[in-house]
Amino acid sequence: MDLKSIKGIALGTEQKLNSLGIYTIENLVEFYPYRYNILNLITINEAKEDESCTIKGVVVDAPKVQYIKRNFNRMTFKIITNKQMVNVTIFNRAFFKQHLTLNKEVVITGKYKRINNSFMASDLKFNISENKIEPVYHLVEGLSNSQISKYIKEALKLNLYYDYIPTIYTEKYHFINKEAAVNLVHEPKSIQDIKSSTLRLKYEELFNFMFKINYLKSINKKVEGIKRDLSSNYLNEFQEQLSFTLTKDQLICMQKIYEDLTNAPRMNRLILGDVGSGKTIVATYAIYLNYLSKHQSALMAPTEILAMQHYKSIQELLSKFNIKTALLTGSTKKKEKEQIMLDLQDGKIDLLIGTHALISDNVKFKSLGLVITDEQHRFGVAQRNNLSEKGLAPDVLYLSATPIPRTYALTIYGDLDLSLIKTKPTGRKEIITKVYKESDIKEVLYKMLEELKLGHQIYVVSPLIEDNDTLDLKSIFALEEKFNLAFKNQVKIGILHGKLKNSEKEIIMNDFKSGELKILISTTVIEVGVDVPNTTMIVIYNAERFGLATLHQLRGRVGRNDMQSYCYLISNKDVERLKVLEESNDGFYISEKDFEMRGGGDLFGNKQSGSANFKIANIKTDYQILMQAALDTEDYINSKLYIGNVYYEKLIDDISFIN
Ligand code: ADP
Ligand code: MG
Repeated sequence: MDLKSIKGIALGTEQKLNSLGIYTIENLVEFYPYRYNILNLITINEAKEDESCTIKGVVVDAPKVQYIKRNFNRMTFKIITNKQMVNVTIFNRAFFKQHLTLNKEVVITGKYKRINNSFMASDLKFNISENKIEPVYHLVEGLSNSQISKYIKEALKLNLYYDYIPTIYTEKYHFINKEAAVNLVHEPKSIQDIKSSTLRLKYEELFNFMFKINYLKSINKKVEGIKRDLSSNYLNEFQEQLSFTLTKDQLICMQKIYEDLTNAPRMNRLILGDVGSGKTIVATYAIYLNYLSKHQSALMAPTEILAMQHYKSIQELLSKFNIKTALLTGSTKKKEKEQIMLDLQDGKIDLLIGTHALISDNVKFKSLGLVITDEQHRFGVAQRNNLSEKGLAPDVLYLSATPIPRTYALTIYGDLDLSLIKTKPTGRKEIITKVYKESDIKEVLYKMLEELKLGHQIYVVSPLIEDNDTLDLKSIFALEEKFNLAFKNQVKIGILHGKLKNSEKEIIMNDFKSGELKILISTTVIEVGVDVPNTTMIVIYNAERFGLATLHQLRGRVGRNDMQSYCYLISNKDVERLKVLEESNDGFYISEKDFEMRGGGDLFGNKQSGSANFKIANIKTDYQILMQAALDTEDYINSKLYIGNVYYEKLIDDISFIN
């Protein structure tokens, strides 16, 4: 229903409401307060000097207003409170004068000065004798809290809302009904009102959210994909040509992938494994199986560097098998690109590796059977779907190094099957991590020298902020100079940053990989996936700028074989938080800490699954409600109770928003 049908909402106001995401009366009803001001009334005897407090009194003397300057006035009046007469002064509230009639009750917030019995007020309220709790809303310029309250009150009178929670759950949890809930959430009379209304509304919102995810999961299970006829002996064949033994979790993952690929339902699997846990090999095995079944594979990585690296290492891993692989990124030359397109359509390319360019509309496959996205959390949900749509329901595999606690993963990736790689390849040592102040830089340089002398290489991450158009490279070059001074120009240093051309990056990466360059100074472009096992040390400047999960990812660039590795974090701030990394090398533990400290900032980096769009629920603090809703919706879907329920049929139509 149109907002303008509410008294007092004209075009100007409507636009302001729009900018808050309010377009309809239903939206207005669901525009919940983000907090409440709870009026804590005290008596004047309890008032403490210089501390703000709120008292209630009765006006006993008509107010006097003095206009001191333009836009500046002072109003004084007297009240009786707790059988005592008190002088009240307030600035710039002359417009309240007409409300301050004799014998009228008023609630005053401010500071009391006992010595001259005067109350310096900052706020006045009327007619709140019953309503001591004031909801506080998000606002935009030109729209006050009381205005929005007023509109919401009008909207509530129209009784426009849907009660989504199925009766079985309303009864099970003794929820109040929706009508009561929306009224109480906007006009609570007690703390209990706030509790019972928000609990119910949060549950409803999370129930709907989880319904969509779990519904999607149930549908995905049914989607017919490619059923491959492959012998399980191929795992041995694949394993034999590797130079190391696979870990237990890698083998379990591969077994799962084998089952997914040889059974008809479409694969929709997420492999979640800490950095360095060896996800690439698992993905390569999937590519291999898909190749054997005569289908093409596509692998999408979030950065060109990572795509390039996958291209190299996967080609190496598959060198025995004659799999034709191509690399397609944003900077692939036009001519080469055209050739790749043709070869793809002819089926001359078995595996295409690339960045986002890979999902542009003119990339057509002959028979796309498998789609892999590395560092899945960096892609929007829409993109991953776009790619899946290119083939005949290709199987889909996601790789992610963001070690989210399993339960969170189950919810935000609830529509995917999940495999965890927790075991690290054997022989790996814990990475020794230390936090240093900038003033202790000598110790860091000393350690760097020690590692260089052993023939090892070093990453240095500089504080440069990449997404800045006018890229200031000074800090990076200053670092280079510092190192040249410290190591007497004896050490070859490479610099990698986002503004370099692809070909330039490639040269630097190759020189670093070959050991020609000993130190690689870089912005965070190395954050994901780069693999140079001879690097045993990473030094991160301004470490406080990063979330723990990101730092852990960066740290994962070292410690990639059995050599002892080091991670030195340099920061003058936030040391307490950074020490978590000194304590632990366990990505899952760190992600929980990060989640606690930053509210999952790193985890939900991209606006995933619409999680940022909740009206009242908070995926972090309302976690228990979320889990309950996850269980309940699963039952609800399995029991097919939603069929015939118009609300849920409509939700199913809406599902496009998460997929
Ligand atoms: P990530 O999970 O971070 O993508 P990678 O797949 O890049 O990790 O693997 C990290 C390194 O560990 C690579 O050099 C890879 O060859 C090596 N590796 C993977 N699995 C094993 C294993 N089972 N034993 C020894 N090394 C392994
Ligand atoms: Mg990887």
